Amino acid sequence: MRITMDPVAGNEDLPSRSDVIVIGGGIIGVSTALFLAERGVSVTLCEKGIIGAEQSGRNWGWCRTMGRDAAEIPLTVESLRLWRRMNEITGLETGFRERGTLYLLDGEKALASYESWMEHARDHALSARFIEGAEITNLLPGLAKPWKRGLYTPTDGTAEPFKATPAMARAAQKKGAVILQHCAVRGIETEGGAISGVVTERGAIRCGAVVLAGGAWSRLFAGNMGLNFPTLPVINTVMRTAPDESLPDLAVGGPDFAFRRRLDGGYSVAIRNDNLAPLTLDSFRLFFDFLPTALKSMHEYRLGLTPYFFEDWKRARRWENDEITPFELVRTLDPKPVKRDLKNAWANTVKAYPGFGKLKPVQSWAGLIDATPDAVPVISEVPNRPNFYIASGFSGHGFGTGPGAGHLMADIVTGAAPIVDPTPFRLTRFRGQSTG
Ligand SMILES: Cc1cc2nc3c(=O)[nH]c(=O)nc-3n(C[C@H](O)[C@H](O)[C@H](O)COP(=O)(O)OP(=O)(O)OC[C@H]3O[C@@H](n4cnc5c(N)ncnc54)[C@H](O)[C@@H]3O)c2cc1C
Repeated sequence: MRITMDPVAGNEDLPSRSDVIVIGGGIIGVSTALFLAERGVSVTLCEKGIIGAEQSGRNWGWCRTMGRDAAEIPLTVESLRLWRRMNEITGLETGFRERGTLYLLDGEKALASYESWMEHARDHALSARFIEGAEITNLLPGLAKPWKRGLYTPTDGTAEPFKATPAMARAAQKKGAVILQHCAVRGIETEGGAISGVVTERGAIRCGAVVLAGGAWSRLFAGNMGLNFPTLPVINTVMRTAPDESLPDLAVGGPDFAFRRRLDGGYSVAIRNDNLAPLTLDSFRLFFDFLPTALKSMHEYRLGLTPYFFEDWKRARRWENDEITPFELVRTLDPKPVKRDLKNAWANTVKAYPGFGKLKPVQSWAGLIDATPDAVPVISEVPNRPNFYIASGFSGHGFGTGPGAGHLMADIVTGAAPIVDPTPFRLTRFRGQSTG
């Protein structure tokens, strides 16, 4: 594996019963388990590999309200509130710091698009504001050229992906959640149409409700249940540098690069607005679902035929609960970093900020993002499947929104007042989902 996560000592024994089973130990599943356990609900989380090792341990670490889809803004606001308390909630270091986020803007198109986004920022009283001239250079002394404007949100933050989800998992465990690693869930059992349990590779667990938080695997899991959960993969490549305290202490995005200061003083660096969308059979199956977004954000993605096409093609789509499933065959999705993206990300960063030239990338990795047709997640019940819930499809935004999303999922499962209006996250907003 190309990344190293803080380890979590999971539970060894399978319980015979749990009120809720959470499938997936990324930040969404872990946060759901944490907020369920906090309310005294008996919850067991099953992770096929180790906690946080897929998207949640590979991301850039940005926890931002800035630039978010209007539908997601309330969730990002609540999530930041929770992030600010996360070290206290967990009693551990999650790496969260309110460092601020800054986009450097040049072209008329980008300026116009963020000007119209600022209406949402004002509606939600976000701290985002445009800055110019000396305000930009005070934050980023050493920029190679003057930028027309910056969009700056001082109250946004960043957290440490290899620390945060494990810390939350340990906290959930302390509050009573059972955390099982190397424990893939193969399928769900029902009695009289109601959920009665799950079958894992290590045996069955009886339960009353199931939350599917399997990230990039949720579509496959749901597909085996006869549900069409529409997501497509996107690959993003990241690298990190050694520490250097002389460079800026915030998260910065330019048109074609992004960097953020890490807890260890180094930087996570990546390409921005140039994601690889690997072709899969689903690219054809879901063509019409994704067409409107593809037309709108074509400049941010490039389709590519990669080895992932064949890996995905060979994967079983249907199985019985007594068979070995694709989840056991791939403990951790660990895509190869894309060389071209590494090269361009580094070159673009050094060009914009020559101070990076004295640093060297010391590690690189990639992650597979699960994107929905409208790039907004699903945090929802599923029609005609009582007590089955999905929290997936976070479309590259789920680290920052993870705490709020888990809280919201726990609210929906327990029937508590929701932390934010769940309407934008309903599964039924997608084509053909109204009947389950
Ligand atoms: C390179 C990159 C950069 C990103 N940058 C940011 C960022 O800066 N800010 C931000 O907010 N978001 C960012 N994201 C997105 C963010 O990381 C994800 O949205 C978020 O981590 C999703 O969490 P998750 O729990 O849904 O999925 P994951 O973290 O992928 O976790 C899903 C887990 O489910 C497990 N699983 C699946 N199926 C089964 C099964 N049947 N049984 C048991 N376990 C199962 C998997 O093993 C996996 O561990 C980025 C993502 C990537 C890849």
